[in-house]
Amino acid sequence: MDPFVYTALPTRVVFGTGRVAELGAEVERLGAKRVLLLSTPGRAQMVAALSAGLPIAGVFDRAVMHTPREAVEQARAMAKDVRADCCVALGGGSTIGFGKAIALESGLPVLAVPTTYSGSEMTTIWGISEGGAKKTGRDPKVLPRTVIYDPVLTLELPPAVSAASGMNAIAHCVEALYAHDGNPIVSLMAEDGIRALAAALPKILANGKDIAARSEALYGAWLAGMTIATTSVALHHKLCHVLGGLGLPHAETHSIVLPHAVRYNHDAAPEAMARLRRALGGVADAPAALYDLEKKLGLPLRLADLGLAEADLERAAKTAAEAPYPNPRKVEYAGVLALLREAYAGRRPARKVFAE
Ligand code: NAD
Repeated sequence: MDPFVYTALPTRVVFGTGRVAELGAEVERLGAKRVLLLSTPGRAQMVAALSAGLPIAGVFDRAVMHTPREAVEQARAMAKDVRADCCVALGGGSTIGFGKAIALESGLPVLAVPTTYSGSEMTTIWGISEGGAKKTGRDPKVLPRTVIYDPVLTLELPPAVSAASGMNAIAHCVEALYAHDGNPIVSLMAEDGIRALAAALPKILANGKDIAARSEALYGAWLAGMTIATTSVALHHKLCHVLGGLGLPHAETHSIVLPHAVRYNHDAAPEAMARLRRALGGVADAPAALYDLEKKLGLPLRLADLGLAEADLERAAKTAAEAPYPNPRKVEYAGVLALLREAYAGRRPARKVFAE
C-alpha cells in the first residue's frame, strides 16, 4: 500500500428520519443559550416551525446564494447585537455558508441542518463574494460542530434540483477517487457515496417523496462532503470553475462536464475507474455510464444548452491548461479542448476520444 495522510474532521453527525426533533437537545449539548437562527427567505416558514422550543436570540432569514459580503456583514452584526453564542443554519449550502462566515470572524459554533446535497456542512471551506469575485479559504473554525441530517426536510426539494445537486455530489466523490492527496479511507467514502447517490437519484426523480431514497441520497451527500473536505479537486472541478466564471449554472455544468472529464482521466486512473464502475452497479465503462445516468435523470447534456458560446471553448481550455489543478493525466490544451467540444455537443463519451 502506498503511504498516505488522512485527516479526520471532528463533526458530530446525527442522521435519520425524524432526527431534527433532537435539535433542542443538540443545541443544549453545545452549551448554547442564545441561538442565532439562519435561513433563506424561502425556508423561513419551515425553519420557524422546526425551531419552536429553542433558546432563540435572533433570526436572520436573508441568506442568499454566494454569501455576498454586504449580507454577511448584516448577519455578523446581528450575531453581535443579539449576543448569540451559537448559529443554527437550516437550509442548503447558501445558508450554511452564512453560518461559516459568522464563525470565521467570531468563532461561534455552528450547528447545521442541511436540506440539499451540497455537502458544505462537512467542510472547513468558506466563501464570501464581493465585486463579482468569490474569495474562498479553509479554516477549522468554520466547520460545523454538529450536523443533523433528516431526510424528511428534503422531501420538498424539487426532483430536478435534487438530480443536479446529487450529480454535483457524485463529482466530488469521483475526483476524490483520483485526488493526488487521496487515501484509502476517503476512497471508501467516495465509492459508497457514488453508489448511494446513483441508486437513489432515479428513485427520487420517479417519486420525490420516497423517504428511503431521500435517506440514501442524503447519506451519499454526507459522504461526498467528507471527500471534498480533505482532498484536492482536479481537472473536472477546474473546468467547472472556469465555466462558472463565464456565467454557467453551478450544478448543471458539473453534471455535463463530469462524464467527459472522467473519459479524459480514464486511462491515467485505473484504480479509481475500477471503483467507479463498481459503484455504478458493475458497469463496463464508467464515463458512458455516468452519461447514461444523467440522461435517465433528464439533466441537460450539452454545454450549448446552458448558453455557452462555441467561441468560448478555446478560452476555457486555455485557462484550464495554463493553471491546472493536480490531475492524474497531464492537462494539455488540445486534449482539454477536445473534451470541451464533446461536452458542448453533448455526445455520449466514446472510448479513446482523447487518446494521446
Ligand atoms: P442553496 O442553498 O442556494 O439552495 C437553493 C434553493 O433551494 C434556495 O432557494 C433554498 O431556499 C431552496 N431549498 C433548499 N433546501 C430546500 C428544500 N429541502 N426544499 C425546497 N427548497 C429548498 O443551494 P445549494 O446547492 O445547497 O448550495 C449552493 C451554495 O453552496 C453555493 O454558494 C456553493 O458555492 C456553496 N457550497 C459550498 C461548499 C463548501 O464546502 N463551502 C460546498 C458545496 C457548495
